Amino acid sequence: MSDDLLARHKAVLPSWMPTYYGDDALEIVSGSGRRVTGGDGRTYLDFFGGVLTTMIGYDIPEINEAVQRQLATGVVHTSTLYLIKQQVELAEKIARVSGIPDARVFFTNSGTEANETALLMATNLRRSNQILAIKNSYHGRTFATMAITGHRSWSSSALTPLNVSWLASGDRLRGRMAGLDDAAVLDAAVDDLREVLATVTAGDVAALIAEPVQGVGGFVAGPDGLLGAYHKVLSETGILLIADEVQTGWGRTGEHFWGYQAHGVTPDLITFAKGIGNGFALGGVVGRAEVMNAVPAISFSTFGGNPVSAAAGNAVLDYVLDRDLQGNAARVGAILLDGLRGLDLPIVGEVRGKGLMIGVEIVHPGTTEPDPAATVRVFDECRAGGLLVGKGGLYGNVLRMGPALTLTEAEAREGLGILVDALSRVDTDSRI
Ligand code: PMP
Repeated sequence: MSDDLLARHKAVLPSWMPTYYGDDALEIVSGSGRRVTGGDGRTYLDFFGGVLTTMIGYDIPEINEAVQRQLATGVVHTSTLYLIKQQVELAEKIARVSGIPDARVFFTNSGTEANETALLMATNLRRSNQILAIKNSYHGRTFATMAITGHRSWSSSALTPLNVSWLASGDRLRGRMAGLDDAAVLDAAVDDLREVLATVTAGDVAALIAEPVQGVGGFVAGPDGLLGAYHKVLSETGILLIADEVQTGWGRTGEHFWGYQAHGVTPDLITFAKGIGNGFALGGVVGRAEVMNAVPAISFSTFGGNPVSAAAGNAVLDYVLDRDLQGNAARVGAILLDGLRGLDLPIVGEVRGKGLMIGVEIVHPGTTEPDPAATVRVFDECRAGGLLVGKGGLYGNVLRMGPALTLTEAEAREGLGILVDALSRVDTDSRI
């Protein structure tokens, strides 16, 4: 059945739209809690939540009821030209948790559009199209967001409306920051920023955009305080700071509601999307009124913040806050992190992450050389064992775990067991 669907997918969708698991591509046909059932008839524990799009799990009654209440009115959506109570309520809540005084919120249908909107406002306010971005970043799939995506596999156009300069990522395994401790990374990052500002740009940069933890890039993070250290330099000339919290927001990192809060700075603009609608298309940007209002014409999204998505968004945010899912992410994430860090397997080059955002670097044993082939083997072994995980990183050699924030301790231990078995098996094979 799935084979047939894969053939039809390949016949009618563009070639650059890949699916996981090659010829054994998976269709998810149902879900409950942290488990999904595939078109192959098997049930899997889901440690990836569809790239973190499932914030709180599958088939959650509170979300279903909120959406059904809206559907029962007979209105899926009319237009954002009318007042939408669900949207205003969600904006009020996000403004409140943003940490930004005098905050304004704009809703979109995706993270890409959220970042496009942030770029629009920053470039308008600063009258400049110069943007600083971080190598190994992912910010979206449109013309401008692709230009600030520092990841060759995902950035499919060299033509861009922006003038982009690149800063080093916080990767400690390779590159400029290899082997450095936190304090040294902070110093090196500030030097890097000053060097770029002095040598690459004409000095009228609009904004720096950064993910507090790089998602698609393989859950790479610089040390806490990095965005604050950048901001000190940026504020000398009024350059704006944009935090892309599409993967890190809503308590995902376990420590804070937003990733930026580990950095001792409040960004001018924050973008969010992915799991905030628990699968419903919803994203947006929150920022200071002065920056958010810096669009000289009417701007409008037909579907951004529609009543159904906003109803889901309200229910998800309430659920996350009322049940302290941030605290759960910290507790349950620690089980995974400790379990993985305790392994002594030469193919594991690094275990990193925060909360329920955990990456495992797979390398040629005893080196820092990426091993994407072994990564695929572990990835496939996980599925064979009944566990879905993600894959990513600049070299395609990072296993990514981003389960729903409701993951239980028992589920964490169950998934960890499958993952450890898969890693051990591939590790043994790599030495034969
Ligand atoms: N920013 C980040 C950090 C992301 O991870 C993604 C999606 N992977 C996006 C932006 C783009 O979001 P979307 O796919 O919803 O457009």
